[in-house]
Amino acid sequence: MEIVESKTALRTILGKSRSAGKSIGFVPTMGFLHAGHLSLMRRARQENDLVVVSIFVNPTQFGPNEDLDTYPRDADRDTELMRSENVDIAFFPPVEEIYPRGFTTFVAVEGPMTQVLCATSRPTHFRGVTTIVAKLFNLVKPDKAYFGQKDAQQVVVIQQMVKDLDFDLQVVVCPIKREADGLAMSSRNTYLSPRHRADAAVLFQSLAEAQQMIAGGERSASAVVRSIATKIGAAAQDAIIDYIAVVDAETLADLETLQGDILIALAVKFGKTRLIDNIRIKGLGPNCGGPCR
Ligand code: AMP
Repeated sequence: MEIVESKTALRTILGKSRSAGKSIGFVPTMGFLHAGHLSLMRRARQENDLVVVSIFVNPTQFGPNEDLDTYPRDADRDTELMRSENVDIAFFPPVEEIYPRGFTTFVAVEGPMTQVLCATSRPTHFRGVTTIVAKLFNLVKPDKAYFGQKDAQQVVVIQQMVKDLDFDLQVVVCPIKREADGLAMSSRNTYLSPRHRADAAVLFQSLAEAQQMIAGGERSASAVVRSIATKIGAAAQDAIIDYIAVVDAETLADLETLQGDILIALAVKFGKTRLIDNIRIKGLGPNCGGPCR
């Protein structure tokens, strides 16, 4: 595995591989790797000649009072994990390499999908995400780029950017990796106190229960949201719900009645730690007045 810090070195190495006709799979991350990240690398390894992973805690996607300074980092451990996944190139750019003095250009997907869900409490987050991802796409020029369904809104926003800006690549969306109790893996889980860590299992349990209700015929979005909120409130008294939403999976538009491809997404704070999770349900028909098949 080659460890690369500069854009010039990255371009040189990848230019040679591209001229040799090799396909490039790219996994952008903020590091402090866990099994969720590794599942993306494994998929990229299966589908490409060359696998590039970036490790960059992107300052522009953090708000002023967020956790940029305390975000967990462990470059040595990440390096070992990437080696064990047979990654070819680990790109570890310093901040000045990505945002040199005088940097002023941002890429922003505008419109409803960047104004709902996480954007309500993190209004500048997606502009930071699309800016860094666009820059990394320009540097790596991958054939395929791998993202986790864990960040469902991010996936929708990036797909929109890829379409609107004619990036010549395929976005591959990988399923959410979970801990044994269902908690979605996240670098931020390390912030949780033991009690909050135990309480946080209710997020997936409440989503799974909602899925059961829907399989049983429930089609009211407000009933689904109420059920999730009640379950979280009962299991984790001091959890603060940022949002629980039932939206169209493609547009992220709010739904009153569940139909088609839907996304149930939530963000909940345990102490200072804000966790997100979601489930996607495909091809929902109308309420059939009983368990739908
Ligand atoms: P991050 O380092 O948090 O920016 O995540 C880098 C990539 O890994 C993003 O595409 C995430 O959606 C994905 N990812 C993070 N957690 C998980 C998970 N639990 N399962 C699958 N993918 C994940």
